[in-house]
Amino acid sequence: MLDADALAATVGRLRAAGQRVTPQRVLILGMFAAGEHLTAHEVYARVAQVSPAVNRSTVYRTLERLRDLGLLSETDLGDAERHFELLGDDRHHHLVCRGCGAMLLLGDEFVRPLREAARARYGFVARIDHLALFGLCSRCQDTMPAPADEDDH
Ligand SMILES: [Zn+2]
Ligand SMILES: [Zn+2]
Repeated sequence: MLDADALAATVGRLRAAGQRVTPQRVLILGMFAAGEHLTAHEVYARVAQVSPAVNRSTVYRTLERLRDLGLLSETDLGDAERHFELLGDDRHHHLVCRGCGAMLLLGDEFVRPLREAARARYGFVARIDHLALFGLCSRCQDTMPAPADEDDH
């Protein structure tokens, strides 16, 4: 399931975080080695293929633990699913279109000034690991009215 490099990197990440290297953690964290976004549901479905005895809440707890350790990011991409992704040294973010669902990549260079301003102005260390901004892509702006203020929070 994992090639040797991805396996070594995954084990290294767990060790660097001071975590025991269990087969389950390697299995779950290793699924993200290719840089995919996966929902909690997708992770569970893949784990269940390999080891059907594992229950859903164990998988979800492992994801949350890996998130708390800073190994995975969890992002609300606006579809009521919990999206997880490997959190490497490079940060990236997304622009998510409410019209067609397109997800554009937003470089961290746009978010870095926000982080720096929060720190300089408020002494606040903002943890912005994987941000999703919602709106309309250039194509959808022509065909749809601007979105009303959506109350997500
Ligand atoms: Zn992402
Ligand atoms: Zn769109």
